[in-house]
Amino acid sequence: MTDEEFERLYGRPPVKPGTHKKVKIYWGRVIIAVIVFILVLCGIIQLIKAIARGISGKDSTPSVVSAADSNVVPDDPDSQLITESAAESTADSTAVQPEQKVWQFKVCIDPGHGGIDDGACITDDQGNVIRREKDDTLRLGLAVRDYLKSQGVQVIMTRETDEFIELSDICKFTNNNQADLFVSLHRDSVASDVSGFEACVHSKRPDMDTTLAMNILANLKAVGISNDRGIVYGYTNDPTQNYHVNADTVCPSVLMEMGFITSKTDNDLIDQHNTDYAKAIGDAIIQTAKDLNVVDANGTRILSEQLISRSKLYYGLDYYYNL
Ligand SMILES: [Zn+2]
Repeated sequence: MTDEEFERLYGRPPVKPGTHKKVKIYWGRVIIAVIVFILVLCGIIQLIKAIARGISGKDSTPSVVSAADSNVVPDDPDSQLITESAAESTADSTAVQPEQKVWQFKVCIDPGHGGIDDGACITDDQGNVIRREKDDTLRLGLAVRDYLKSQGVQVIMTRETDEFIELSDICKFTNNNQADLFVSLHRDSVASDVSGFEACVHSKRPDMDTTLAMNILANLKAVGISNDRGIVYGYTNDPTQNYHVNADTVCPSVLMEMGFITSKTDNDLIDQHNTDYAKAIGDAIIQTAKDLNVVDANGTRILSEQLISRSKLYYGLDYYYNL
């Protein structure tokens, strides 16, 4: 076929061997060029990002505020990092103040006497009163309250100032506020030189009340007391009678005699260990709430109603709620 015939048939002149220019491709240079192009492109992107961050202030230390900003631009991977680090820093700040544990039970603390009722007193040689039971019980009672509150226990107080409250009102207050445990604080007194701490429990020797008394005495002993006089059932001078606060409270109760106000040894101990005794009593109260299955070990309430020491009650519950 001639060139003319080929052109007529195919519409273009024939390609003859040797007429094409052989193009040599330098693959090494191509690869280098592509790499350089990619690097330049990445550089430009990073530069744009840097400028954008500079404008929005995201280069500053990560904070909750910048995390909020980054939420507006969730596609920016850098801003997501800020969110995470901000979340971590928030978690750290809450870790410094751990969540307060809550013990789901209620205790009533009764600082004995008050107001016109001084309780037992001691006087100096001139007959001036130098120490009153009501002051010692209030000081200790407030310390017990503060400790229990710091532990997440709900505390009710029969008094927080120097005021007189009727014994029947103390019991009524305890019952009607659904207290699960009751602790009355007192100081003993005697003409002779006697020292020691004791716990007074209802004459019927109820198990729950005894547990409360034993736990408190054990903890006080661990701090250090002059003499453990143990549990006294009933009234100190008549085991068939009861202290009003043990007789008319429906929950487990104990009347603590925190040493003798007539004993220098006991007064020195109370002055030296007020905070320690408060913690000892507070811990014993928490332990008792666990021992009596009012709460579990985590403080979660098990009991559906107020804890009632039924074995010490002479009358139906209505009587005690309507004192
Ligand atoms: Zn007293």
